[in-house]
Amino acid sequence: MSAIASLVRAGIQRVKPYASARDEFSGRASIYLDANESPYPTAYNRYPDPHQRLLKEKIAQLRGVEPNQIFLGNGSDEAIDLLLRVFCEPGKDRVVIPQPTYGMYSVSASVNLTEQVTVPLTADFQLNVAALRESTTPNCKLLFLCSPNNPSGNLLRHQDIAAILDFFPGIVVIDEAYIDFADSPGWVPRLPEFQRLVVLQTFSKAWGLAGLRLGMAFASNEIISWLNRIKPPYNINTLTQQIALEKISAPFPAAQIATLKQERARLALQLARLKITKQVYPSDANFLLVRVENANETYAHLLQHEMVVRNRSMVMLCENCLRITVGLPEENTKLIELLGGDW
Ligand SMILES: *Cc1c(COP(=O)(O)O)cnc(C)c1O
Repeated sequence: MSAIASLVRAGIQRVKPYASARDEFSGRASIYLDANESPYPTAYNRYPDPHQRLLKEKIAQLRGVEPNQIFLGNGSDEAIDLLLRVFCEPGKDRVVIPQPTYGMYSVSASVNLTEQVTVPLTADFQLNVAALRESTTPNCKLLFLCSPNNPSGNLLRHQDIAAILDFFPGIVVIDEAYIDFADSPGWVPRLPEFQRLVVLQTFSKAWGLAGLRLGMAFASNEIISWLNRIKPPYNINTLTQQIALEKISAPFPAAQIATLKQERARLALQLARLKITKQVYPSDANFLLVRVENANETYAHLLQHEMVVRNRSMVMLCENCLRITVGLPEENTKLIELLGGDW
Protein backbone atom coordinates (compact mmCIF):
# COMPACT_ATOMS: atom_id res chain seq x y z
CA MET A 1 0.00 0.00 0.00
CA SER A 2 1.29 3.51 -0.83
CA ALA A 3 2.02 6.05 1.92
CA ILE A 4 -1.12 8.00 1.00
CA ALA A 5 -3.38 4.95 0.77
CA SER A 6 -2.28 3.86 4.25
CA LEU A 7 -3.63 7.20 5.59
CA VAL A 8 -7.04 6.68 3.96
CA ARG A 9 -9.85 5.29 6.14
CA ALA A 10 -10.33 1.56 5.63
CA GLY A 11 -14.05 2.01 4.96
CA ILE A 12 -13.33 4.59 2.27
CA GLN A 13 -10.84 2.24 0.61
CA ARG A 14 -13.66 -0.28 0.22
CA VAL A 15 -16.11 2.22 -1.34
CA LYS A 16 -16.88 1.38 -4.94
CA PRO A 17 -17.41 4.81 -6.58
CA TYR A 18 -20.74 5.65 -8.20
CA ALA A 19 -20.43 5.42 -11.95
CA SER A 20 -22.66 8.04 -13.56
CA ALA A 21 -24.10 7.79 -17.05
CA ARG A 22 -21.45 10.31 -18.13
CA ASP A 23 -18.72 8.12 -16.61
CA GLU A 24 -19.80 5.06 -18.56
CA PHE A 25 -20.05 7.05 -21.78
CA SER A 26 -18.09 10.29 -22.11
CA GLY A 27 -17.77 10.47 -25.91
CA ARG A 28 -19.99 12.38 -28.32
CA ALA A 29 -23.29 10.99 -29.53
CA SER A 30 -26.15 12.66 -31.34
CA ILE A 31 -28.89 11.06 -29.30
CA TYR A 32 -28.61 10.71 -25.52
CA LEU A 33 -31.02 8.24 -23.97
CA ASP A 34 -28.75 7.16 -21.14
CA ALA A 35 -29.30 9.54 -18.23
CA ASN A 36 -33.08 9.95 -17.91
CA GLU A 37 -32.73 13.65 -18.71
CA SER A 38 -35.52 15.63 -20.33
CA PRO A 39 -35.05 15.64 -24.11
CA TYR A 40 -36.55 19.17 -24.32
CA PRO A 41 -33.80 21.80 -24.52
CA THR A 42 -33.72 24.36 -21.69
CA ALA A 43 -29.97 25.05 -21.98
CA TYR A 44 -29.65 23.02 -18.76
CA ASN A 45 -31.54 19.83 -19.51
CA ARG A 46 -28.30 17.80 -19.64
CA TYR A 47 -26.19 16.79 -16.66
CA PRO A 48 -22.88 18.66 -16.30
CA ASP A 49 -19.45 17.13 -16.98
CA PRO A 50 -18.77 15.25 -13.71
CA HIS A 51 -15.00 15.71 -14.21
CA GLN A 52 -15.10 19.40 -15.26
CA ARG A 53 -12.53 18.66 -17.97
CA LEU A 54 -12.49 22.02 -19.80
CA LEU A 55 -12.33 24.04 -16.62
CA LYS A 56 -9.59 21.90 -15.11
CA GLU A 57 -7.48 22.23 -18.26
CA LYS A 58 -7.60 26.02 -17.97
CA ILE A 59 -6.86 26.03 -14.25
CA ALA A 60 -4.00 23.59 -14.81
CA GLN A 61 -2.40 25.93 -17.36
CA LEU A 62 -2.83 28.90 -15.06
CA ARG A 63 -1.39 27.21 -11.99
CA GLY A 64 1.28 25.06 -13.68
CA VAL A 65 -0.08 21.68 -12.58
CA GLU A 66 -1.64 18.69 -14.38
CA PRO A 67 -5.46 18.56 -14.64
CA ASN A 68 -5.40 15.34 -12.58
CA GLN A 69 -3.88 17.31 -9.69
CA ILE A 70 -7.03 19.43 -9.35
CA PHE A 71 -10.21 18.72 -7.42
CA LEU A 72 -13.13 21.13 -7.85
CA GLY A 73 -15.72 21.46 -5.12
CA ASN A 74 -18.93 23.29 -4.33
CA GLY A 75 -16.82 25.92 -2.55
CA SER A 76 -13.60 25.12 -0.68
CA ASP A 77 -15.95 23.96 2.03
CA GLU A 78 -16.74 20.81 0.05
CA ALA A 79 -13.02 20.00 -0.27
CA ILE A 80 -12.55 20.51 3.50
CA ASP A 81 -15.45 18.17 4.22
CA LEU A 82 -14.25 15.50 1.79
CA LEU A 83 -10.67 15.61 3.15
CA LEU A 84 -12.05 14.86 6.61
CA ARG A 85 -14.19 12.03 5.31
CA VAL A 86 -11.34 10.45 3.34
CA PHE A 87 -8.69 10.58 6.05
CA CYS A 88 -10.30 10.79 9.49
CA GLU A 89 -11.95 7.75 11.06
CA PRO A 90 -14.72 9.14 13.33
CA GLY A 91 -13.96 8.61 17.01
CA LYS A 92 -10.44 7.45 16.28
CA ASP A 93 -8.35 9.84 14.19
CA ARG A 94 -7.59 13.47 15.04
CA VAL A 95 -7.23 16.73 13.17
CA VAL A 96 -4.82 19.49 14.22
CA ILE A 97 -6.07 23.08 13.93
CA PRO A 98 -3.92 26.08 14.90
CA GLN A 99 -6.31 28.75 16.24
CA PRO A 100 -7.65 31.32 15.61
CA THR A 101 -8.49 30.43 12.04
CA TYR A 102 -11.29 29.83 9.54
CA GLY A 103 -14.25 28.20 11.27
CA MET A 104 -15.10 25.53 8.71
CA TYR A 105 -12.19 23.21 9.62
CA SER A 106 -13.60 22.83 13.11
CA VAL A 107 -17.23 22.54 11.96
CA SER A 108 -16.37 19.86 9.39
CA ALA A 109 -14.31 17.98 11.98
CA SER A 110 -17.24 18.05 14.41
CA VAL A 111 -19.69 16.86 11.76
CA ASN A 112 -17.29 14.00 11.00
CA LEU A 113 -17.09 13.20 14.76
CA THR A 114 -13.33 13.81 14.66
CA GLU A 115 -11.40 14.98 17.70
CA GLN A 116 -9.70 18.35 17.24
CA VAL A 117 -6.29 19.23 18.60
CA THR A 118 -6.31 22.99 19.10
CA VAL A 119 -2.90 24.65 19.12
CA PRO A 120 -2.88 28.42 19.70
CA LEU A 121 -0.97 30.61 17.28
CA THR A 122 1.59 32.98 18.81
CA ALA A 123 0.61 36.54 19.77
CA ASP A 124 1.61 37.72 16.28
CA PHE A 125 -0.51 34.94 14.74
CA GLN A 126 2.39 32.76 13.58
CA LEU A 127 2.71 29.00 14.05
CA ASN A 128 4.02 27.61 17.31
CA VAL A 129 6.02 24.84 15.67
CA ALA A 130 7.28 23.33 18.95
CA ALA A 131 3.75 23.13 20.37
CA LEU A 132 2.46 21.61 17.14
CA ARG A 133 5.20 19.01 17.24
CA GLU A 134 4.39 18.12 20.85
CA SER A 135 0.67 17.86 20.17
CA THR A 136 1.03 15.62 17.15
CA THR A 137 0.28 11.93 17.69
CA PRO A 138 0.36 9.11 15.10
CA ASN A 139 -3.45 9.28 14.70
CA CYS A 140 -3.28 12.96 13.63
CA LYS A 141 -4.32 12.52 10.01
CA LEU A 142 -4.94 16.10 8.96
CA LEU A 143 -3.53 19.51 9.80
CA PHE A 144 -5.18 22.70 8.56
CA LEU A 145 -2.99 25.74 7.95
CA CYS A 146 -4.55 28.92 6.61
CA SER A 147 -2.13 31.28 4.87
CA PRO A 148 -2.88 34.17 4.66
CA ASN A 149 -4.77 33.35 7.84
CA ASN A 150 -8.37 34.28 8.45
CA PRO A 151 -9.11 36.27 10.67
CA SER A 152 -5.58 37.63 11.30
CA GLY A 153 -4.70 38.35 7.65
CA ASN A 154 -1.00 37.38 7.75
CA LEU A 155 0.92 34.83 5.73
CA LEU A 156 2.34 32.00 7.82
CA ARG A 157 6.14 31.83 7.65
CA HIS A 158 7.38 29.50 4.94
CA GLN A 159 10.13 28.00 7.08
CA ASP A 160 7.57 27.07 9.77
CA ILE A 161 5.35 25.34 7.23
CA ALA A 162 8.37 23.55 5.80
CA ALA A 163 9.30 22.31 9.30
CA ILE A 164 5.75 21.02 9.83
CA LEU A 165 5.72 19.26 6.46
CA ASP A 166 8.84 17.51 7.68
CA PHE A 167 7.48 15.97 10.90
CA PHE A 168 3.70 15.79 10.47
CA PRO A 169 2.70 12.18 9.73
CA GLY A 170 -0.61 12.97 7.99
CA ILE A 171 -1.92 15.30 5.29
CA VAL A 172 -1.01 18.99 5.58
CA VAL A 173 -3.69 21.25 4.08
CA ILE A 174 -2.74 24.86 3.31
CA ASP A 175 -5.78 27.02 2.66
CA GLU A 176 -4.75 29.82 0.30
CA ALA A 177 -8.14 31.48 -0.19
CA TYR A 178 -6.39 34.89 0.01
CA ILE A 179 -3.10 34.10 -1.75
CA ASP A 180 -3.84 36.49 -4.65
CA PHE A 181 -3.66 39.42 -2.22
CA ALA A 182 -0.24 38.36 -0.89
CA ASP A 183 3.16 38.93 -2.45
CA SER A 184 3.93 35.23 -2.44
CA PRO A 185 3.64 32.44 -5.00
CA GLY A 186 2.15 30.20 -2.31
CA TRP A 187 2.69 26.45 -2.13
CA VAL A 188 1.23 25.15 -5.40
CA PRO A 189 4.64 25.43 -7.14
CA ARG A 190 6.13 23.26 -4.38
CA LEU A 191 3.62 20.41 -4.64
CA PRO A 192 6.11 18.09 -6.41
CA GLU A 193 8.33 18.20 -3.30
CA PHE A 194 5.65 17.22 -0.80
CA GLN A 195 3.55 14.12 -1.29
CA ARG A 196 1.24 14.78 1.66
CA LEU A 197 0.49 18.41 0.82
CA VAL A 198 -2.91 19.75 -0.26
CA VAL A 199 -3.37 23.41 -1.27
CA LEU A 200 -6.84 24.94 -1.28
CA GLN A 201 -7.76 27.98 -3.35
CA THR A 202 -11.11 29.47 -4.27
CA PHE A 203 -12.99 31.52 -6.84
CA SER A 204 -14.79 33.29 -3.97
CA LYS A 205 -12.33 36.09 -3.21
CA ALA A 206 -9.94 37.61 -5.81
CA TRP A 207 -11.93 36.16 -8.72
CA GLY A 208 -15.11 37.80 -7.45
CA LEU A 209 -17.30 34.71 -7.74
CA ALA A 210 -18.38 33.91 -4.16
CA GLY A 211 -21.97 33.39 -5.28
CA LEU A 212 -20.93 30.71 -7.76
CA ARG A 213 -19.54 28.34 -5.07
CA LEU A 214 -16.36 27.01 -6.62
CA GLY A 215 -13.31 25.90 -4.69
CA MET A 216 -10.12 24.17 -5.79
CA ALA A 217 -7.84 21.62 -4.16
CA PHE A 218 -4.36 21.02 -5.62
CA ALA A 219 -2.39 17.92 -4.65
CA SER A 220 -0.75 14.79 -6.01
CA ASN A 221 -2.97 12.85 -8.41
CA GLU A 222 -3.24 10.12 -5.78
CA ILE A 223 -4.83 12.39 -3.15
CA ILE A 224 -7.08 14.03 -5.76
CA SER A 225 -8.30 10.60 -6.90
CA TRP A 226 -9.49 9.79 -3.37
CA LEU A 227 -11.50 13.01 -3.22
CA ASN A 228 -13.01 12.30 -6.63
CA ARG A 229 -13.98 8.77 -5.62
CA ILE A 230 -16.33 9.97 -2.88
CA LYS A 231 -17.59 13.29 -4.23
CA PRO A 232 -21.20 13.63 -5.40
CA PRO A 233 -20.95 12.87 -9.14
CA TYR A 234 -22.30 16.17 -10.45
CA ASN A 235 -21.03 18.45 -7.69
CA ILE A 236 -20.21 21.39 -10.00
CA ASN A 237 -23.24 22.51 -11.96
CA THR A 238 -23.24 23.49 -15.63
CA LEU A 239 -23.68 27.22 -15.03
CA THR A 240 -20.81 27.34 -12.54
CA GLN A 241 -18.52 25.51 -14.96
CA GLN A 242 -19.46 27.86 -17.81
CA ILE A 243 -19.09 31.10 -15.89
CA ALA A 244 -15.84 30.05 -14.21
CA LEU A 245 -14.44 29.05 -17.60
CA GLU A 246 -15.36 32.45 -19.07
CA LYS A 247 -13.86 34.30 -16.12
CA ILE A 248 -10.62 32.33 -16.10
CA SER A 249 -10.22 32.68 -19.88
CA ALA A 250 -10.29 36.48 -19.51
CA PRO A 251 -7.34 38.35 -17.97
CA PHE A 252 -6.93 38.06 -14.20
CA PRO A 253 -8.48 41.14 -12.50
CA ALA A 254 -5.03 42.51 -11.65
CA ALA A 255 -6.07 46.17 -11.55
CA GLN A 256 -8.77 45.40 -8.96
CA ILE A 257 -6.30 43.49 -6.84
CA ALA A 258 -3.78 46.33 -7.08
CA THR A 259 -6.42 48.84 -5.98
CA LEU A 260 -7.51 46.63 -3.08
CA LYS A 261 -3.89 46.32 -1.93
CA GLN A 262 -3.42 50.11 -2.08
CA GLU A 263 -6.66 50.60 -0.18
CA ARG A 264 -5.54 48.03 2.38
CA ALA A 265 -2.41 50.10 3.02
CA ARG A 266 -4.38 53.34 3.22
CA LEU A 267 -6.97 51.84 5.56
CA ALA A 268 -4.26 50.37 7.79
CA LEU A 269 -2.65 53.81 8.13
CA GLN A 270 -5.87 55.69 8.71
CA LEU A 271 -7.28 53.12 11.12
CA ALA A 272 -4.04 53.21 13.11
CA ARG A 273 -4.46 56.97 13.62
CA LEU A 274 -7.93 56.67 15.18
CA LYS A 275 -8.39 57.31 18.88
CA ILE A 276 -10.24 53.98 19.36
CA THR A 277 -7.57 51.86 17.68
CA LYS A 278 -5.18 49.77 19.76
CA GLN A 279 -3.59 47.79 16.96
CA VAL A 280 -3.92 47.16 13.23
CA TYR A 281 -2.46 43.77 12.36
CA PRO A 282 -0.37 43.45 9.19
CA SER A 283 -2.40 41.89 6.37
CA ASP A 284 -1.58 39.91 3.23
CA ALA A 285 -5.29 39.46 2.52
CA ASN A 286 -8.27 41.63 1.48
CA PHE A 287 -9.20 42.42 5.07
CA LEU A 288 -7.70 43.91 8.21
CA LEU A 289 -7.89 42.67 11.77
CA VAL A 290 -8.14 45.69 14.05
CA ARG A 291 -8.05 45.75 17.84
CA VAL A 292 -10.10 48.60 19.26
CA GLU A 293 -10.98 49.83 22.74
CA ASN A 294 -14.42 48.26 22.69
CA ALA A 295 -15.28 46.07 19.70
CA ASN A 296 -18.96 45.64 20.59
CA GLU A 297 -19.47 49.41 20.78
CA THR A 298 -17.62 50.05 17.53
CA TYR A 299 -19.55 47.27 15.83
CA ALA A 300 -22.89 48.69 17.01
CA HIS A 301 -21.90 52.21 15.96
CA LEU A 302 -21.10 51.08 12.43
CA LEU A 303 -24.28 49.05 12.24
CA GLN A 304 -26.31 52.11 13.22
CA HIS A 305 -24.94 53.66 10.06
CA GLU A 306 -25.80 50.57 8.01
CA MET A 307 -22.22 49.37 7.79
CA VAL A 308 -21.46 45.81 8.83
CA VAL A 309 -18.05 44.42 9.73
CA ARG A 310 -17.17 41.13 11.40
CA ASN A 311 -16.94 41.14 15.17
CA ARG A 312 -14.25 38.61 16.11
CA SER A 313 -13.93 39.62 19.76
CA MET A 314 -15.11 36.24 21.09
CA VAL A 315 -12.39 34.38 19.17
CA MET A 316 -9.14 33.13 20.76
CA LEU A 317 -6.40 35.86 20.79
CA CYS A 318 -8.84 38.31 19.15
CA GLU A 319 -10.29 40.13 22.16
CA ASN A 320 -11.87 43.42 21.02
CA CYS A 321 -10.98 42.73 17.42
CA LEU A 322 -12.99 43.54 14.33
CA ARG A 323 -12.29 42.01 10.95
CA ILE A 324 -12.87 44.58 8.25
CA THR A 325 -13.01 43.69 4.57
CA VAL A 326 -11.34 46.18 2.20
CA GLY A 327 -14.14 47.62 0.09
CA LEU A 328 -14.38 50.16 -2.71
CA PRO A 329 -12.34 53.34 -2.09
CA GLU A 330 -15.48 55.34 -1.24
CA GLU A 331 -16.66 52.61 1.14
CA ASN A 332 -13.32 52.65 2.94
CA THR A 333 -13.43 56.44 3.19
CA LYS A 334 -16.92 56.19 4.68
CA LEU A 335 -15.63 53.69 7.26
CA ILE A 336 -12.87 56.06 8.37
CA GLU A 337 -15.36 58.96 8.53
CA LEU A 338 -17.72 56.93 10.70
CA LEU A 339 -14.96 55.88 13.08
CA GLY A 340 -13.21 59.25 13.34
CA GLY A 341 -14.34 62.22 15.39
CA ASP A 342 -16.60 61.96 18.46
CA TRP A 343 -19.42 59.47 18.64
C1 LIG B 1 -13.47 32.74 2.27
C2 LIG B 1 -12.65 31.58 2.62
C3 LIG B 1 -12.72 30.40 1.88
C4 LIG B 1 -13.63 30.28 0.72
O1 LIG B 1 -14.52 29.27 0.88
P1 LIG B 1 -15.47 28.92 -0.34
O2 LIG B 1 -16.27 27.78 0.20
O3 LIG B 1 -14.58 28.54 -1.48
O4 LIG B 1 -16.28 30.15 -0.64
C5 LIG B 1 -11.89 29.36 2.21
N1 LIG B 1 -11.01 29.47 3.21
C6 LIG B 1 -10.91 30.59 3.94
C7 LIG B 1 -9.90 30.68 5.00
C8 LIG B 1 -11.74 31.66 3.68
O5 LIG B 1 -11.65 32.76 4.45
